[in-house]
Amino acid sequence: MKNKAARPTSYVPAGASHVRRTGSRYTLRRWSVRHAGFLEKVYRFFAEIFLKLHWLWSLIGYARVERPIVFVEKAVKGFMFDCRMCGQCTLSETGMSCPMNCPKGLRNGPCGGVRADGNCEIEPDMPCVWVEAWKGSRLMQAGDNIRAVQEPVDFSLRGTSAWLRVTAAKAAERDAAAPAAKEREG
Ligand code: SF4
Repeated sequence: MKNKAARPTSYVPAGASHVRRTGSRYTLRRWSVRHAGFLEKVYRFFAEIFLKLHWLWSLIGYARVERPIVFVEKAVKGFMFDCRMCGQCTLSETGMSCPMNCPKGLRNGPCGGVRADGNCEIEPDMPCVWVEAWKGSRLMQAGDNIRAVQEPVDFSLRGTSAWLRVTAAKAAERDAAAPAAKEREG
């Protein structure tokens, strides 16, 4: 049997983290960071479609569509980003590297424990989530958003759809801005 730890590019979980990562998921996570620019465009495209469908979500009821959307969101983002469904997605601000995969769960990082080789102090075989985030952000159009300070996680939103939350917030913003825009035109 091959010794997995001997492979220089593979990630072998140290087992010290509460979030229980797997090596295969980790490979995909890193792919996503390397393709952050492309994924940013894909996300924008789908976010626009979601916003256009706001009337449909409203008609059915946001609460009713929550469950099926959570199912899809969890499957897609779990596969690509090892998403933990925190419900307040920051992937667009963190170079497509999910901060909830930091063993310390830091929403603003990195911490002071990054090793000299850029790896995590808790998972020594894993490059720091925030070092990855910086690399990914350099490939994104809005990459400088990584400099913004993130709010603390609201754990009451765990397991809910960030896609729907962002859509509802954008729709509310758009609707609030519409009368002012009409006034300016008139
Ligand atoms: S920030 Fe939250 S919603 Fe986004 S990928 Fe990470 S756990 Fe999932």
